[in-house]
Amino acid sequence: MSERTIFDKILDGEIPCHRVYEDEHVLAFLDIFPLSKGHTLVIPKERKAHLHELSDAQSAAIGRVLPRIARAVMKATGATAYNVLQNNGPEAHQAVFHVHFHIIPKLGDSGLGLSWRAGKLEGDAAKVLATAIADAL
Ligand code: AMP
Repeated sequence: MSERTIFDKILDGEIPCHRVYEDEHVLAFLDIFPLSKGHTLVIPKERKAHLHELSDAQSAAIGRVLPRIARAVMKATGATAYNVLQNNGPEAHQAVFHVHFHIIPKLGDSGLGLSWRAGKLEGDAAKVLATAIADAL
């Protein structure tokens, strides 16, 4: 079994959080180091480090409530724009190895800063790549 994370301790009630939502499968609470006012984390109760390890049931449970929580964050903060961020692996900026979705309001200059270094999709390579991914499903 993987090591217990800070989110396990929150789920087990060992450390406090500012809870905004909870059901049988999902917990949402305010991020302790927010990028903007209302920065909220939504986590499955299933203890998995990465998104690709989540069960279909837990994925569905998260998907069902994410839009509702996003609406509530927008309403409470007045934000009209926000990012949903989900990091997997340390190279992708994951620090807590329990699946979590960030809901990050964009409020003036505060919120998620992005460096989007886009490449170009080339026809032949794209066809091979799309087929490889589709075959792996
Ligand atoms: P990530 O880089 O995607 O793994 O993000 C982990 C997030 O968890 C960071 O934004 C932290 O600020 C947040 N975090 C860490 N510990 C706590 C905590 N005890 N309560 C709330 N948020 C936390």
